[in-house]
Amino acid sequence: MRMYDVISKKKAGLELTEEEIRFFIDGFTCGDIPDYQASALLMAICFQGMTSIETAYLTNCMAKSGDMVDLSAIPGVKVDKHSTGGVGDKTSLIAGPIVAACGVPVAKMSGRGLGHTGGTVDKLESIPGLETSIDKESFFSIVRDAGISIIGQSGNIAPADKRLYALRDVTATVDNISLIASSIMSKKLAAGSNAILLDVKTGSGAFMKTMDGSVSLAKEMVSIGEHMGRRMAALITDMDTPLGNAIGNSLEVIEAVETLRGAGPDDLTSVCVELAANMLELAGIGSIERCRELSRKAIGSGEALRRLKVMAAAQGGDVSVLDDTSRFDKPEVKSLFRAKLDGYISHMDTEMCGIASVALGAGRMRKEDPIDYAAGIILRRKTGASVQVGDVIAELCSSEDSKLVEAEKILEGAVLISAEQPTAAPPILAKVTIDKTEYYH
Ligand code: URA
Repeated sequence: MRMYDVISKKKAGLELTEEEIRFFIDGFTCGDIPDYQASALLMAICFQGMTSIETAYLTNCMAKSGDMVDLSAIPGVKVDKHSTGGVGDKTSLIAGPIVAACGVPVAKMSGRGLGHTGGTVDKLESIPGLETSIDKESFFSIVRDAGISIIGQSGNIAPADKRLYALRDVTATVDNISLIASSIMSKKLAAGSNAILLDVKTGSGAFMKTMDGSVSLAKEMVSIGEHMGRRMAALITDMDTPLGNAIGNSLEVIEAVETLRGAGPDDLTSVCVELAANMLELAGIGSIERCRELSRKAIGSGEALRRLKVMAAAQGGDVSVLDDTSRFDKPEVKSLFRAKLDGYISHMDTEMCGIASVALGAGRMRKEDPIDYAAGIILRRKTGASVQVGDVIAELCSSEDSKLVEAEKILEGAVLISAEQPTAAPPILAKVTIDKTEYYH
């Protein structure tokens, strides 16, 4: 087989066979197929698209390009969740322990922050001493004892995706639904859970900015997972406003603890209860109403917070910061971002809010940059709130005054104040399963 012919076939809009897709992925992963030929095929895919069958073959080949984790040593249905990424999205730290508290094991591999979006691994590492690079035996034993362990993705999970993603990033071929779906699902399939709940974000802070795009991506991923024998569902949730009030690593851990104590912001609490309930439903625990009730009880009884602490301790973390969150390191400098007009906050460009948080030190500009765990933003008012000149919209936290100034400038362009009160979107917009899409808005 020649790569030239595979490229020509896709350029002509024809469907590739499983064998052709395997030839491409295997050859590219071992270095036999050069980047320029892979780039040509990726661009042809962007113009001609891929059928669901091609996308499923691509996902399967990428998943099998490295380790396929076998979680069968952990008893029960293992359920995973994946968020397509957002700003202030600390849901894994809340929904994961809720699910564990309800008796369903969560063995989760998470990522670091990417661009304007934060990552669960960075958030967890803001707990002093907590390790996210853990060997397989310890990972399994923590899941057995605590019901949950969240670790970083091991180096050999879907290596084909790692190489391909780096190439897509520099060849303007990221934004194709089949390529995004196969990239995400290859890693999820390789991570080994029996059931996967997807949290597909939509809006200005999300990867997919429109509802239609988010629903199409969700349908594609649900179909791939079901095709590969996993139980699948996707929630489409709002990312047109940051989720909760905290953006930044230890700030988000503190908000997660407050939410697990029953005192979190309403939007964050409802998204986490709904995510946990859907994970439990996928695990076969009962009807969605029953699973919502169990999730709320796990918060009310304190059991979910206890699971987070047991996991953190087992991974070497200093749990005293979760018992008393005022013990987290404090930012060296702070400033207040205030309203310059009277009116209503009519829009918050959520991607820009994420970029402001990165500028404060909470994220990385380059892969090797260090993170300032105490840096970030605490929102005092969000979209829909009425404001008067001088009211505090956000508190900014950093290690340097110059970073505060830079973030303030970014927020100036991100927060829109108008005379008209906007209608706020609900946090949960739709649910996609293999046989239907239900819209809640
Ligand atoms: N996240 C991924 O893992 N892959 C993509 O292609 C996009 C987002």
